[in-house]
Amino acid sequence: MKLQEIFSPKEYSHSDVDKMVYSRDASEFEGECQAVVWPTSKEQIIHMLKFGSSDGTHFSVRGAASNTFGACVATRSVVVDMSRLHKVLEWGSDFVVVESGILLSDLLRSLEKKKLIFPIKPLEHPVCTIGGMLAMNCYGLDVYYGPIAQWVEELEVITGKGDRILVSGAQIKDFIGMEGNTGIIYSAKLKLLQEPQEKTVSIFKFNTLSAMMDKVLILDKNPQVLSIEYFDDYCSNFLQLGQAFHLLVEYKNDSGLIKNSEEIEKIDEMKEKLQHMLVNKKYTQKEDPKIPLEQIPKFLHWAQKNGVPCFGHMKLRILHPCLREGSKLHSEMYPFIQSLGGEIVGQYGTGMKRKRFVSLDKKIKYKNLKEKYDPSKILNRGVLFD
Ligand SMILES: Cc1cc2nc3c(=O)[nH]c(=O)nc-3n(C[C@H](O)[C@H](O)[C@H](O)COP(=O)(O)OP(=O)(O)OC[C@H]3O[C@@H](n4cnc5c(N)ncnc54)[C@H](O)[C@@H]3O)c2cc1C
Repeated sequence: MKLQEIFSPKEYSHSDVDKMVYSRDASEFEGECQAVVWPTSKEQIIHMLKFGSSDGTHFSVRGAASNTFGACVATRSVVVDMSRLHKVLEWGSDFVVVESGILLSDLLRSLEKKKLIFPIKPLEHPVCTIGGMLAMNCYGLDVYYGPIAQWVEELEVITGKGDRILVSGAQIKDFIGMEGNTGIIYSAKLKLLQEPQEKTVSIFKFNTLSAMMDKVLILDKNPQVLSIEYFDDYCSNFLQLGQAFHLLVEYKNDSGLIKNSEEIEKIDEMKEKLQHMLVNKKYTQKEDPKIPLEQIPKFLHWAQKNGVPCFGHMKLRILHPCLREGSKLHSEMYPFIQSLGGEIVGQYGTGMKRKRFVSLDKKIKYKNLKEKYDPSKILNRGVLFD
């Protein structure tokens, strides 16, 4: 059997141009793409993976390829582009079932017409797919809604063995955040909201990091606080807040000084713009370490000393130091994060770039799941772990 027997000529290509285009994702890595397929049904995925399990063909799954750590680089593999599986399969008053290749932006447009809300909206929302977001267990810009795992009721997955399974409850974690290593997510039942979380906002200004951290410790204990967003002096300047350290605090009650919804919307837009402005200034390497709260001051001092712009989510303990492309500081920063008891990968996935920093516990967990769902190891070779 050949892949051309599963896919029509419009759904299969091994042209040089396609192979070149599909050998990369949004990271700096370049892989080797052997062919590209564009499945249009789950049956094709089942046949393809059964074929791969017996024949040894490797597959790299991709949504919009917007991840920046090499999570879907082809590795002498056939690239499975999920973009033609983009239908909404079922609507309910508080859920929607979608094929995983749907763009988040298309889903959000349909939801707007029905006055429903899916609250996980990462910065790359115009291009990223639900499948990619699920496989990365993505957070949105409003981090208080939690990672996407909290918004999933059921998944329909084709495992690496080519078995179609329905997954719910705790088993969801065998696929969410697994960066395409255990199976291809065909569809997802997502929970929806009728109303967004109401919030008020306050902005606090500090001249020193220690004064700022004292306030964080108080806010962190306040059950009404939804999120505590930190901006260093460089980022604050971009936000036109002035050159000082700032905390932008979101409350679920009316404790915040800013209560007007239009003003709050403007603040949300500003947060979104900040990241684009940093990219314009060539700070393209947005990292995402997770650091114990008591060690965060040490990390922030390190960032200040090295001229690394930094913002982050104090409630999640995730910071975003932003490095310039080609910066040599990664090699100093990663061991430093580990010496503080932190995790290098907090939010954006491991990919190829950061697999050497995966903890032993996680490596064992990944290996066990791989053995269970993809024993022939045909999915996403080299991503997450070797
Ligand atoms: C400027 C910028 C800002 C970003 N901001 C954020 C942010 O705020 N929050 C955040 O979490 N991330 C962010 N990211 C990272 C990235 O956009 C997200 O991880 C996004 O969820 C990836 O979606 P995608 O469709 O592009 O997935 P891809 O990059 O195509 O794939 C990501 C992973 O998912 C796997 N995959 C894709 N589809 C499937 C499927 N159907 N079944 C199984 N596995 C699959 C791939 O193999 C790969 O391992 C940002 C990236 C950029 C460039």
